[in-house]
Formats: sequence, structure tokens, C-alpha cells
Amino acid sequence: MDAPIIVWFRKDLRLADNPALSAAVKTGRPVVPVFILDEQQGRPLGGASKWWLHKSLEDLRDRIPLIFKRGPAQAMLQEVMAETGAREVYWNRLYEPDLIARDTQIKVSLKGTSFPGRYLAEPHVLKNKQGAMLKVFTPYWKALNAHFETHPLADPSPVPKDVNWQTGTGLSLDALGLYPHEPDWSGPLAAHWRPGEGGAWERFNTFKAKGLNAYLNDRNLPGLGWGVSGMSPHLHWGEVSVGQLWHEIIEHGCSVHHEHFLKELTWRDFAAYLLFHFPELPIKNWRPEFDRFPWETDPKMLAAWQHGMTGYPIVDAGMRQLYATGWMHNRVRMIVASFLVKHLLLHWRQGEAWFWDTLVDADPASNPSSWQWVSGSGADAAPYFRIFNPMTQSEKFDAEGDYIRKWVPELAKLPQQFLSAPWQASPLILKTAGIELGLTYPEPIIAHEAGRKRALAAFETLKTHKEAV
Ligand code: FAD
Repeated sequence: MDAPIIVWFRKDLRLADNPALSAAVKTGRPVVPVFILDEQQGRPLGGASKWWLHKSLEDLRDRIPLIFKRGPAQAMLQEVMAETGAREVYWNRLYEPDLIARDTQIKVSLKGTSFPGRYLAEPHVLKNKQGAMLKVFTPYWKALNAHFETHPLADPSPVPKDVNWQTGTGLSLDALGLYPHEPDWSGPLAAHWRPGEGGAWERFNTFKAKGLNAYLNDRNLPGLGWGVSGMSPHLHWGEVSVGQLWHEIIEHGCSVHHEHFLKELTWRDFAAYLLFHFPELPIKNWRPEFDRFPWETDPKMLAAWQHGMTGYPIVDAGMRQLYATGWMHNRVRMIVASFLVKHLLLHWRQGEAWFWDTLVDADPASNPSSWQWVSGSGADAAPYFRIFNPMTQSEKFDAEGDYIRKWVPELAKLPQQFLSAPWQASPLILKTAGIELGLTYPEPIIAHEAGRKRALAAFETLKTHKEAV
């Protein structure tokens, strides 16, 4: 009998449009599906990501005889080879710098074959006319579209039929230790999400029916149910491929809404591209002048931000949404991040670390690149003088107050005009709404104008130094 082929599942927890799986099935040989939890390589997973991964693996395990191993990837693959008689390993590529190093080594030692498919374009492909990396999003978007003219995105492949799966020995899913048993805090996450390929398509199809046709306008309104897709964790774990979504969108229409959705998918690519070309992105400022930025250290302020107790309703609503659901709307991510690094002058790495632990879509490229974008320290970053005003942001993007009322219920009875700044309401209005500032809801931990001025002064020091040099 032909020796089986191992298909090593990683962040591609799907059967359809899975290039490594399709190629293995095409050989006609038995397929051994394996998942390895290798804690020695890659960034250690945060709590919310571990929960998602457990649930997504559960979904896949219920459909195919997935073998679980825990340990260094190469040794675990060798173990499966010895147990099953497999002589080759197929996988889909990942592009985090330390994983590239590990996988290159495995490719040489174990006769590995790898496939693209995680991104629209592999991160080494797109360059400017001089052959250098693209540092700004718009040229990246243009280059990607031009690339498709010469290399059209392949049609997604269907779920392979009649796969000759070969079973083997491994650990139970529980033995990977991903699920938070003691205490099990994951109930609220389970109420919001259905990890796995089926859940991903259920969500995407609902978004397509209810949100896509108004995406350009509604994507900034956090109080709406379907203004955005919520596909980020499904994309992160590869329960759908970005190519599948791209094809679904272009088949469905070509309005400004469709195009904007494609652009957002491309931001995901661009983040991976930045990490590929600047591996220190999660730990180092892209712009070195930020190494001298006068960050503050204030654990109390950090804790107030983390737990949604800053006294700014839109910030608190976002942080509580994050804690409860493992996800936060993009508009609000920008507001809370700006508040942390600008109003509180706390280092973007502290915010990035909290997001890493609490987001179900925590991504080693998108998370640090977005934090650096908001801080002004990143490539193609927001200008430092753009300091979001939390009050005007909530008046503009949560005009009816639905979002704040949902996530900060102690303010629910406050008249709309005071919802973005409860401290401006009279004692009588507060009392009627059942609010006692400082007791039932915090006073602002910093005055907006004072915070803004302090941030601008801090950013000025960078400029002064540059001029002095
Ligand atoms: P939609 O609006 O429906 O967009 C569709 C898809 O496009 C998303 O699922 C996502 O894959 C991609 N996308 C959209 N916006 C961006 C963006 N700005 N950057 C990269 N990809 C994007 N996204 C993550 O996936 N993981 C993270 O860890 C992450 N951390 C962030 C941290 C901060 C401070 C900020 C400001 C943004 C962060 N983002 C991150 C980007 C963005 O907020 C989320 O991708 C988006 O909110 C996910 O919701 P959605 O799927 O409904 O997005």
C-alpha cells in the first residue's frame, strides 16, 4: 500500500479550500490529519485564543479523525511518521518569523511540502517599482489588484470527497490544556460565537444578507448588529480562507460596499506583510524616534482602562464588550487605543498585551500593527496630533446610545445628551437616572482637555529632539 501523507493542520482549520489537504487527497494516498500544540515556537496564545482554538479543533475533530500531539513540532511529526508509516508532510504556510524558521528546518529534515493560501498575496511578493517593500497601505492595495491581473486569485477548492483518512494515536483534545476548566470563564464567549467552519459560514452568510450592502456607512456604527462581519476570529484560525471570502464578495456585487470590504480584507494582508518585513513589530517601534517617547507607568490607570472603569462611557463600553465577548468593534478599538496611549500616555505594548490575552481574533500581525498605527509609531500611522475625543466619537458613531447602554447598563437611564459625558449632567438628572458619580459609575480618570494637552506636549518632545539632532 502507498505510504500515507500527513496533513499538518495549523491555522487552517477547514476542509474546503485547503491547499495542503486538496493536494494530499489528489495523490490518492491515505491522509493522516494531525494538529500539534507546539508551545515552544510562535507567540504563546492568550486565554481567549486558547478557548477559540479548543472549540474549533473540537468541530474539526468531530468531522475527521484528527490526531492531537503536544510538543516540539518536528519531534511530534516524527512520532506520527513512525506510528503511521507516513513519509511526507504537507501543510499551509504561516509567515510569523519564528514559525518560518521552524518550518524551513522541518521542510529540509522531513520531506515537507508547503502551500500558500493564508493571504491574498504571499508577503514576499509585492514590491514597489524599485523592488523595495511597500510601507503605505494604498500602494499596497493597488499593487495587490495589479498582481491579480497577472496572477488571478485561484478559485476556492471544494471539500474533498471520499478522503481515505488514516487514524493514529494521539492525545485527547482536553489533554492539550486549551480549555479554561478552573474556573471556566468561557460561558459568555460561547454565547457569542460558534467556532469552526460551519459557524464561520453561518456568520458570513448572515452578514452578506444583513450588512454587506450598507457596509461602507454602517461599518463605523458599533451599536448595529450586522454593520461589520465579525469574521476576524474565523479568518485568524483559517476556518474560512481569505480567498473564499474574496470570491464570495466579488460574485455578490461590485458596489462601493463590496469594494470596501475587500479593502478591509487587504488590511489583514498588509499587517502580515509588515510583520514579515519587520519581524520586531510586536515589540519594537517601527519609527525609532518613538524609543524616546516619555511614556508614563501607572498600574491603577491601566487597570481602570482594562476593566472599563475610566469614566468615559464609550471607552468603558468597548473594554467591557472585549472582556465579555472576546471581540470589540473596530471603531471602538481605535477609540480605546487612542485613549490609552494618548490620554493616559501608557505604552502601546501594554494595550497590545491586554488585547492579545482577551481577543478571540488576537493576531500576531494585525494586533501590533494596529496598535502602532494608533500610537503614531507605526508604518503608515495615524498622525500623532490625531487624539480621538471620546465624547465626539460617541456622539457621532453611537448617536442613539445603543452601544453604551448595552455595555454600560448603569448609565442606561441617562438622557441621550449626557450619555457621552455623564459628569456634565446636573445632580438632579444623575439622581433621576439612578447614578452617583464616583459610586455607581466612575468620575473621568483624567480630564479630556488636560489629557489632550499632555499628549501633545509629549509628542512635541519627539519633534524638538529631531530638530536638535
Ligand atoms: P470587518 O469590518 O467585517 O472586516 C472584515 C475583515 O477584514 C476582518 O475580519 C479582518 O480580518 C480584516 N480587517 C478589517 N479591518 C482590519 C484592520 N484594521 N487591520 C487588519 N485587518 C482588518 N484585527 C485582528 O484580526 N486581530 C487583532 O488582533 C486586531 N487587533 C487590533 C487592535 C487595534 C488597536 C485596532 C485598532 C484594530 C485591531 N484589529 C485586529 C483590526 C480590526 O479592528 C479587526 O480586524 C476588526 O474589528 C474585526 O472585526 P470584523 O471581522 O467585524 O471586521
